Amino acid sequence: MLLFRQLFDQQSSTYTYLLADGVSREAVLIDSVFEQVPREIALIEELGLRLKLAVETHVHADHVTGAWLLRRRLGARIAVSEKSGATGADIYFADGEQLHFGGRYLTAMATPGHTGGCTTFVLDDRSMAFTGDCVLIRGCGRTDFQQGDPAAMYGSVHDRIFALPDECLLYPGHDYHGSMVTSVAEEKLHNPRLGAGIGLDDFRGYMLNLGLPHPKQIDIAVPANLRCGEPARPEMEGVPPDWAPLTYTYAGFWELQPGWLEEHRKDVQIVDVREPDEFDGILGHIEGAKLVPLGELKNSLDVIDRHKPVVTVCRSGARSAQAAIILDAQGFERVANLAGGMLRWRSHRLPVEGVAD
Ligand code: FE
Repeated sequence: MLLFRQLFDQQSSTYTYLLADGVSREAVLIDSVFEQVPREIALIEELGLRLKLAVETHVHADHVTGAWLLRRRLGARIAVSEKSGATGADIYFADGEQLHFGGRYLTAMATPGHTGGCTTFVLDDRSMAFTGDCVLIRGCGRTDFQQGDPAAMYGSVHDRIFALPDECLLYPGHDYHGSMVTSVAEEKLHNPRLGAGIGLDDFRGYMLNLGLPHPKQIDIAVPANLRCGEPARPEMEGVPPDWAPLTYTYAGFWELQPGWLEEHRKDVQIVDVREPDEFDGILGHIEGAKLVPLGELKNSLDVIDRHKPVVTVCRSGARSAQAAIILDAQGFERVANLAGGMLRWRSHRLPVEGVAD
């Protein structure tokens, strides 16, 4: 069984793909984004996977890869093309090489044109291919910088990607219009730049006249990606909050467990976002908790100390998760949700006060 997830980064319109062998739980992540690594790690952990490989279709100009961070956090190995020019990877694959995860594999197929080292990853049964910035949905990557070459792109698409089975699904590195997937047959028929019948000279003329702006991120992204995403100050960046043993959830907030909170009640401020009748209801509340009902939170920010970590609490952990997201958006730097809320707190038989008779 193959496990497959398509993830999106809104900032750069990048798609990241998670593939895993359902039996061995070994996974590979294609084209990760630095800022999205906490989300990717949460998903990988929630699905019970082991990230074996962080692979790149090419050296990106529009976002920094999360590969370095994924290696540091999860021990994944970084794999890039031998033609990428990047340093610091663990595996430099050649054209045709197989990258294995559990019982499955991707074949690295060289598809230069957007950059010299561009690779399309083809799944073992040729049902899916990950084209990076070579074939996009009804488009293709630009060819006007980073060793871009329209003739090479034309050859890569016609001789290699279009040689895959017609029903092979193509997953691009980006999409700017909301499309998510296409197929070989579909692009052969409908790609306005590269479809069947469009000659190399037509394509070259099209690409020379795109008139695209210089990519905003290129001066930061390319040098960072040539180091596989290692930050300039690796000791400082991307470090998870260290004030408590926190877990990042796929929904986008940090959580901590009741046992830790019981031992560190004095070090944090507990913000209980239930209603007053619940606060002094059958579950009671944690000693020292401050009552700020969720509906009043945004207008009560001045009662919360910005210099002390905040733990949000509710009945089950759902409203307080929303509270954690609100506080994070309001600039509170150390915020976490109490996982499972008062229900889990009570199930651990931890002390409460204010319990109604
Ligand atoms: Fe690109």
